[in-house]
Amino acid sequence: MSATGESPGARAALAAAPEPAQAPEWSAPLDRRGRPLRDLRISVTDRCNFRCGYCMPRGVFGPGFQFLPARELLSFEEIARLAGVFVSLGVRKLRLTGGEPLLRRDLPELVRLLPKAADLDLALTTNGSLLAAHAEALAKAGLTRVTVSLDSLDDATFQRMNDANISVRTVLDAIDVAGAAGLRVKVNAVIQRGLNDHGIIPLVRYFRDRGLILRLIEFMDVGNTNGWNRAEVVSAQEMLEQVDAVFPLERAQSNYAGEVASRYRFRDGSGEIGIIASVTQPFCGDCSRARLSAQGSLYGCLFASEGHDLRQLLRSGQSDAEIRAQVCALWQARTDAYSEQRGQTLVPLRRRAKIEMSYIGG
Ligand code: SAM
Repeated sequence: MSATGESPGARAALAAAPEPAQAPEWSAPLDRRGRPLRDLRISVTDRCNFRCGYCMPRGVFGPGFQFLPARELLSFEEIARLAGVFVSLGVRKLRLTGGEPLLRRDLPELVRLLPKAADLDLALTTNGSLLAAHAEALAKAGLTRVTVSLDSLDDATFQRMNDANISVRTVLDAIDVAGAAGLRVKVNAVIQRGLNDHGIIPLVRYFRDRGLILRLIEFMDVGNTNGWNRAEVVSAQEMLEQVDAVFPLERAQSNYAGEVASRYRFRDGSGEIGIIASVTQPFCGDCSRARLSAQGSLYGCLFASEGHDLRQLLRSGQSDAEIRAQVCALWQARTDAYSEQRGQTLVPLRRRAKIEMSYIGG
């Protein structure tokens, strides 16, 4: 096994299929609801050094929890090869995530291997705890954007939420280092009633003053372990009213179809914020995102239960064209719209287990 976790079988599969990642003659598939495939989220690890209660509560993801062994993970070469297949099918944004992606050793090396094009966005979502040390290498390797998660500016609140003793200062410094390295930075904050909803305005003020876009996220019912309860969801409407009362807002147009966050501009021209309202205003209608787990399973929805094993295709010597045909067929059969359906029923939608966000990637 190499430093990047590549097995001999994977090496053989790669050697058997040396085609270029780009195949422009392929047309972009649409799913059953007419949605294109534009965005691939790639989880590079199911491990994280935070234990946020809304994502990886310590009671479940404690010392005895069995994370994936290294041999189960896709190697960097396998990830890059799949990324090339997805790009050839129309994907224009690749986002590395996890777990905490910066726990994966030598991540800039993966960025270096990913396809590059002027209209291809290479982004990373991180909790920021390890970002300062890697930002420059990531930017040099070709990363264009980073989204840093930070739920509060108050240390006591932040540490209660991350349950890992990481300070606000560590993350704020990392954001500065990333900006200085030339990465475009956005900040994500999950808002949970009774935990950090009192801290929305300080977050908005801080990032507005620095010209960075903050996105406020509704607490979602991802996975099965976060004890999700609708009463703890602070709705987009409530968040907007809070912010608007201090910093008057106006709605701004989406940058592109399928954008996750709704955009709001500060009326005084000092920038914008985003609101991600997956619970109260589901946006399945134009969802163009696919998700690849660290193990190489493909999911059409954050709330899915079952994935499709692409690793087995890679490791059984299939060519890029064969893998492309299978991914295309999977996307064309896609009907996922969990968040919309959740809104239409009062009973739990699926009895079967949903996949955990730390596994599938946020
Ligand atoms: N470790 C990285 C990080 O912290 O950004 C990447 C993975 S994390 C799963 C990706 C994003 O999902 C983070 O912004 C996190 O706050 C968000 N997230 C996790 N669980 C959530 C939940 N239950 N509701 C809303 N957002 C959630």
